[in-house]
Amino acid sequence: MKMGSISVMKVYQLTPKTNCKECGRSSCMAFAVDLAKGNAKIEECPYLLEPKFIQQKQELEDYLAPVLGDHETHIEIDEEKCDGCSVCILACPVEARYSDNVMSGKCPKYPLETHLIFQIYDGKAKLVKLDHCRRLEEGDAEARNCSICESYCPQEAIKIF
Ligand code: SF4
Ligand code: SF4
Ligand code: SF4
Repeated sequence: MKMGSISVMKVYQLTPKTNCKECGRSSCMAFAVDLAKGNAKIEECPYLLEPKFIQQKQELEDYLAPVLGDHETHIEIDEEKCDGCSVCILACPVEARYSDNVMSGKCPKYPLETHLIFQIYDGKAKLVKLDHCRRLEEGDAEARNCSICESYCPQEAIKIF
């Protein structure tokens, strides 16, 4: 089945294929159909946010880019420069961080599935989603100017724009 240039079967192959229904759909195929139509966000499947699915999530983002539209990211990580030190995760004030190797210095007070911003995977920092980055949330101007991750990164691998 094709939706425009998007193959639903290809999208389905990149889902976890467990049919757990946690995304609110009856199956991973139903989720794939909604993704292909642009009626779902990848993040609605909590399993795609787990480290073991990071490659599949990336492939989905690349493949679905035409229907997901342009998302402002505001933060870019240069993987060539990043050495996976996790300083960005420890320094971020939102307590929305996770790293396989440091597990954060403070216990995150928000659920990972909604508040995860960075994640270290395969020795590199990956941006998961920015929904709760201070720069995008309602709040005072000073908080919205946060650039702590950028200024703390010892490799100058983070660029905020
Ligand atoms: S939450 Fe993920 S794994 Fe579960 S049915 Fe939806 S797409 Fe499939
Ligand atoms: S602080 Fe910089 S080098 Fe360290 S993990 Fe984060 S992006 Fe990579
Ligand atoms: S800009 Fe601030 S709130 Fe956003 S990810 Fe970086 S350190 Fe965290």
